[in-house]
Amino acid sequence: MYSHYPDPHRMNIDLHTHTMASDGTLTAIELIQRAAKNKVSYVAITDHDTMDSLKLARQEAMRVGIGLITGVEISVTFCEQTVHIIGLGIDEDNIELNQGLFSIRQGRNMRAKKINDDLALHGIHDSLAGALLYVSNPALVSRTHFARYFIAKKYCHTIPEVFQKYLTKGKPGYVSHNWATLSQAIHWINTAGGIAVIAHPGRYRLNATERWALLSEFKDLGGKAIEVITGSHTIAQYTEYAKLAVSFDFAASRGSDFHSPQESRIDIGQLPEIPSICEPVWSKYPQLLDKNRINA
Ligand code: AMP
Ligand code: MN
Ligand code: MN
Ligand code: MN
Repeated sequence: MYSHYPDPHRMNIDLHTHTMASDGTLTAIELIQRAAKNKVSYVAITDHDTMDSLKLARQEAMRVGIGLITGVEISVTFCEQTVHIIGLGIDEDNIELNQGLFSIRQGRNMRAKKINDDLALHGIHDSLAGALLYVSNPALVSRTHFARYFIAKKYCHTIPEVFQKYLTKGKPGYVSHNWATLSQAIHWINTAGGIAVIAHPGRYRLNATERWALLSEFKDLGGKAIEVITGSHTIAQYTEYAKLAVSFDFAASRGSDFHSPQESRIDIGQLPEIPSICEPVWSKYPQLLDKNRINA
């Protein structure tokens, strides 16, 4: 069907990026221009719990001649952990998906106030006001925005250091939170005609039984793919998750999780190819490219 395309394993496709609509630092237009400069042929914008960048990004993608795949990264609570589920090729006007994302975003505002109050008990005052200096979408306050403020205040040097000292489990600014359920996230994505993908599966602190539960429940609920090649995985994890994708019959995704030129270790599209034992998600579900064909 795609005889005019090169080997699907070799196409430079990046299915995980963030803009200022969530916790990235580039505008939708800047992100698309950077993807084009990096010779990416299709890029998905997958902001946390919002699809606000997609319309502008689509216009720019058409102007510069690359494909935009619609996306979102949904925050989920599974086994008391935050797990991220990406929806690709979703209809961004779908009402159920929009309502679901709206409900998650409301939880974010309440959490941000609790983080502020928790930090204040530990002598760090007005951190929410500080974080808001870095927020461009007032409905989407992320821990990353707190981290940027902490760096500006010279409390820490790097974002990972802020997370380690202040924003992760057991630390002064950590607030446990219930996001969507796995079942809700997959339902919203499937209802909106999309493909559900587990983001950076190697990053979760799950034991072997819990990890198996995540993969098998995800599959039973209608999930289709896992990220194998991601900025969060080590080289050993590329192989480990490639094998898991094969054994669960999941398609494989590839995404940088790019947030910022200053902060991200991996730039848009600058990742290894998907291992040949796996089927790339864009070849198993060609509608992802079809709906967004360049010069369509
Ligand atoms: P939130 O959705 O507000 O809980 O924030 C989660 C975001 O924080 C993730 O999407 C990452 O961008 C960032 N993040 C989480 N953990 C770390 C970490 N250890 N180091 C750097 N960034 C992190
Ligand atoms: Mn993020
Ligand atoms: Mn994530
Ligand atoms: Mn992400």
